[in-house]
Amino acid sequence: AAKRAGGNRLEIFNDEMRVAVQQRITAESRLRQALDGDRVATLPVWFQPIVSPATGLIVGAEALVRMWTTEGELLAPGHFIPTAEETGLVVPLGEHVLAEALRHLHRWRHELGYVSVNVSPRQLSEPDFVPKLARMLAVSGLDDPSRLVLEITETALLSNSLDLRNRLHAIKALGVRIALDDFGTGYSSLTWLQSVPADIVKLDRSFVAGLADDTRKASIISAVLWLAHSLNMSVVAEGVEDLADWEALRAAECPAIQGYFFSPPVTADDFHQMLTPARGVTLEAA
Ligand code: C2E
Ligand code: MG
Ligand code: MG
Ligand code: MG
Repeated sequence: AAKRAGGNRLEIFNDEMRVAVQQRITAESRLRQALDGDRVATLPVWFQPIVSPATGLIVGAEALVRMWTTEGELLAPGHFIPTAEETGLVVPLGEHVLAEALRHLHRWRHELGYVSVNVSPRQLSEPDFVPKLARMLAVSGLDDPSRLVLEITETALLSNSLDLRNRLHAIKALGVRIALDDFGTGYSSLTWLQSVPADIVKLDRSFVAGLADDTRKASIISAVLWLAHSLNMSVVAEGVEDLADWEALRAAECPAIQGYFFSPPVTADDFHQMLTPARGVTLEAA
């Protein structure tokens, strides 16, 4: 029979792809709308405490963005950061998060040591990233630029260009600190440890959650703590979800931890509630 030969082979744009493209377009227009409107309301910046396991005191906070949809749904960054990254909208989005983080740190300056902000590869590669950062710091009223930490993922550092390294050194020259986010998940972590002027290593939660019952994880953590210490870097262990892990990290003398066990990310107002002297807060930088 004379079939429509090749008909199926030519149908490269199938339903699944149509849906994916549709979702991408929706996500992009949503994000554009949010950025054009009231950013502070539609793109709220939440905060998750970073805590000293030895003292239980809050030493810093990571700023984590969220997005309200017009349908009243609160989206986690996993639902819109990839689109933001692909479209370049992560540049204005990142600026908004940085501005909000600095504004809140100023409000909490007597109660909070530092705030940590995620910077995407796309943002970091913008030619005017460093001068913009310098301007924002200058108007922030911040007494000490080391109270701002920029979190960079290893994937952001894949292009080990001279340009990128110069940029990281320019950021450090401003006095801002750099953290290597999701440390250990990239394929060349040790290379980056050697070549990037980072101050903090954020150990990915895949090495952390359940470490109390897993001697291999515990060994990896001890080794990273030792290595970081030798390199004069601090460590934040991410994804601490239970008391056993907290205690194991305290016993290992891990300087700082972050995770659901102490608190998930919360609104700025809820975070402010945690910063009461009763809860115990220190300005010691970890
Ligand atoms: P990240 O920078 O590694 O942030 C930590 C993520 O782990 C957060 O997810 C946080 O809610 C989650 N987390 C914290 N403690 C625990 C725990 O104990 N258990 C588990 N299972 N998860 C925990 P979130 O807020 O959904 O953010 C996801 C990612 O989105 C972030 O990962 C970061 O890469 C990105 N992101 C968030 N905000 C921004 C932003 O403003 N700009 C950029 N470029 N990326 C952002
Ligand atoms: Mg982060
Ligand atoms: Mg992280
Ligand atoms: Mg992570």
